[in-house]
Amino acid sequence: MITTENIDIHMEEHELLTRYYSQLILNDISISDQTHLWDKHVSVVGLGGLGSPLAVYLVAAGLGKVTLLDSDCIEVKNLHRQVFYTQNDLGLKKVQCLGNHLKKINPKVEVNLIPQKSWEVKFSEFRSDLIIDCADNLKTTYELNSECVKNNLPFSTASISGYQGQVFMFNNTEESHCCYECLFEEVGDLNENDCADVGVLGPSVSMIASIQAQCVLKKLLNNPILEDGILRIDTSTMKIKKNKINTNNSCKLSP
Ligand SMILES: [Zn+2]
Repeated sequence: MITTENIDIHMEEHELLTRYYSQLILNDISISDQTHLWDKHVSVVGLGGLGSPLAVYLVAAGLGKVTLLDSDCIEVKNLHRQVFYTQNDLGLKKVQCLGNHLKKINPKVEVNLIPQKSWEVKFSEFRSDLIIDCADNLKTTYELNSECVKNNLPFSTASISGYQGQVFMFNNTEESHCCYECLFEEVGDLNENDCADVGVLGPSVSMIASIQAQCVLKKLLNNPILEDGILRIDTSTMKIKKNKINTNNSCKLSP
């Protein structure tokens, strides 16, 4: 006898095979990987030119649960690079607009919206399987890095200034320490550094977002391509450098 539960499972499998067919025929993504991805929860902090396309790519690829954090409203100066927002969205909260967009991609995706800055919210309120920093200020980066080290959670941060972008991924395992502060000790002014004040082209931001999304996706699919490392991307010459980051024993977060 086929129970309702079995029918549901069958339909879910059918939908999964149909929706993700083009990525499931890749050699390194199995149905089990795809199901595993649906069970994952990721938090994206900062929903500008990096965070918004990144969240779209992760959800479209089959991430099942996402928490979005950003206190900003959409401004006309954002539209040249934050291409998932439109003229009709001006003045609206980024979390709301992006959340609506993600639900249009897949209504079954669970989306949590937090219209605040990360330091205004307890980490436990947006803790997830992997924390992604796409904010435009170092205060957020250092705070999230510290929380992820303390909680042994994978952490990815990315930024772009002019044509120069960088993407980091830290595993934060119990066995070994390697973090953002191992490379950049926290010093000086951590005020916001809006990339728009330095100058940036939309496609450059989108490239960095896509590279970060790819690194996160491959990690969630258990086939990581960047571990305790940094990618430096020059979007004007298309040169990419990949380096491993060494543990710094004098890092204040080192055990
Ligand atoms: Zn460290």
